[in-house]
Amino acid sequence: MEKGQISVQAENIFPIIKKFLYSEQEIFLRELISNAVDATTKLKTLANKGLYKGSLDDLSIEILLDKEAKTLTIRDKGIGMTEEEVKKYLNQVAFSSAQEFLDKYKDEAGIIGHFGLGFYSAFMVANKVEANTLSYQEGSSPVIWSCEGDPSYTLNASEKTERGTDIILHIADDATEYLEESRIEGLLNTYCKFLPIPIKFGTTTETIETGEGEEKETTTKEVDRIINNTHPIWKKKPSDLTDEDYKSFYTELYPFSTPPMFWIHLKIDDPFNLTGILYFPRIKNSFEVQKNKIQLYSNQVYVTDNVKDIVPEFLTLLHGVIDSPDIPLNVSRSYLQGDANVRKITGYITRKVADSINDLFKKDREQFQKQWEDLGAFVKYGMISETKFYDKALKFALLQNIGDEFFTIEEYKEKVKATQTDKHDKIVLLYTNDKEGHHNYIEACKEMGYDVLLMDNVLDNHFMQHLEYQMGDLTFVRVDSDTVDNLVQKDKEEASVLSEEETTQIKDLFTKVINNTNHQVSTRPLGAGQAPVVIVRPEFMRRWKEMQQLQGAGGNDLFGDQLNVVVNANHPLIAQQLLQDGDKQETLATYLYQLALLNQNLLRGEQLAAFVRQSLDLVGRN
Ligand code: ADP
Repeated sequence: MEKGQISVQAENIFPIIKKFLYSEQEIFLRELISNAVDATTKLKTLANKGLYKGSLDDLSIEILLDKEAKTLTIRDKGIGMTEEEVKKYLNQVAFSSAQEFLDKYKDEAGIIGHFGLGFYSAFMVANKVEANTLSYQEGSSPVIWSCEGDPSYTLNASEKTERGTDIILHIADDATEYLEESRIEGLLNTYCKFLPIPIKFGTTTETIETGEGEEKETTTKEVDRIINNTHPIWKKKPSDLTDEDYKSFYTELYPFSTPPMFWIHLKIDDPFNLTGILYFPRIKNSFEVQKNKIQLYSNQVYVTDNVKDIVPEFLTLLHGVIDSPDIPLNVSRSYLQGDANVRKITGYITRKVADSINDLFKKDREQFQKQWEDLGAFVKYGMISETKFYDKALKFALLQNIGDEFFTIEEYKEKVKATQTDKHDKIVLLYTNDKEGHHNYIEACKEMGYDVLLMDNVLDNHFMQHLEYQMGDLTFVRVDSDTVDNLVQKDKEEASVLSEEETTQIKDLFTKVINNTNHQVSTRPLGAGQAPVVIVRPEFMRRWKEMQQLQGAGGNDLFGDQLNVVVNANHPLIAQQLLQDGDKQETLATYLYQLALLNQNLLRGEQLAAFVRQSLDLVGRN
């Protein structure tokens, strides 16, 4: 028997491990199982090189619970350790890496879920840890190392006859949850579901059929239960997989969710190693719900579902898995963002996603258009937030008009250029975000031969602004932001049927009855076919207000509801009736104004009630 001290500095490491990592306690199991997987993989590698000639029959890892003895054991049949190795690896390597980890990250909460602590994380839940091990090397003798959470350890000869290592945790009184089967099972499901070595935990009943025909008999048998899928589909060749395989894997990852639209299988060996499958969920307008569902693995070991720093923000809308041993996991956020490997990975994934969407677009445009509602949200988000993606997406980003036709941006520009270019040579893209509410404005546009886009996604305001900024040669104008003739601002003015004096008279009349400084009155000779009074909201003013609202300045309304009231001087009701209607002038003007408000859905409360009373009055008189 040998007794020793791990190291002088070790004095305080155990309590620190215990306290500091308390919230991330559960990762001890992942750390220990990862070590077991490593030890097993190493044995396979040695066998491949001919350096190990023994049996490789059963390499499974077992997780054993003994409630009475209060132990949790992780048993592997990997390379094991000789006495020398135990001293070297457990007393020195494991210890110093734990020490180093703590020194580095003591002040940084939130990164502990990542790798780095290793073997010593066992002391978060155990007051005594034993390693009972037998090396694969011929002639080695088994040893048992034991440590009670202080710097002293003991090393004794052991009785172990099977190759490999048992890590025996004597669970502390404040961690007895780890003696519960359901707790362990939950952890195994989170962290170990796709590990490359079979993990056994508990047993399950298997039905066995023997004999033929009459002789047929079914018996049941208790067998070890393997909790993981050692060959997850992202590691397989895409050519070996069917759509069904991808879909059922999706259901395995996210039970009960709507099937994805499509997916991308990522596979790269150079200059870094990365595999994975990214699914495109049906997004529509529900952004937040969809986020942070990508799981990150390192060699099939689950690391985190927070991939914010590894994939660009807009890609966090995707679902699925990314597996890369090249992502540095034991480092902090700020480091990750600056890491060259991570930047390369980000760039690669962005490109790959853009290329796949482009393929889809080229292959079946009709289908692509059908999926645009879901896909569009994602593409727009990407275009706004990633220049690299923007450039590629210009080829397949679609605009939809109110007639449900789809155009790429270039196609649409071509379509409307001739009729919808303003005097600054900008192409004017007319749009609505409310087909019902803007009905009259839309009809007026159609009458003038203009096309109207439907932009009713939550991101569309941003998206339009982004396109205006990036392209420079186009401008978006909402159908209710000016009178139709002015929307496109061509120099095509109707001749006025009124004299200048009459026009002023009309303007004064309306200014008087409206009596609201927020409502700017003007008279203009619009087409006789247009409404007698048109109420519009200047585009820039509306956008400014929307932006204020987005920034949370909602209630604080500096300018009130600024509206432009445009009186159509050429409308017969104005030009002929109103001017002659001596004593009823004001009543009629008020009525026409309120009618226009009603048309904009702006007539409410007392004003609306008055309007209805007045209407009934008018009807009654005839
Ligand atoms: P890391 O795994 O990051 O090197 P650990 O603290 O987890 O750090 O482990 C330290 C060393 O102890 C490992 O590198 C390995 O050599 C050895 N070791 C730990 N667990 C086992 C095991 N189950 N079988 C064989 N060797 C192990």
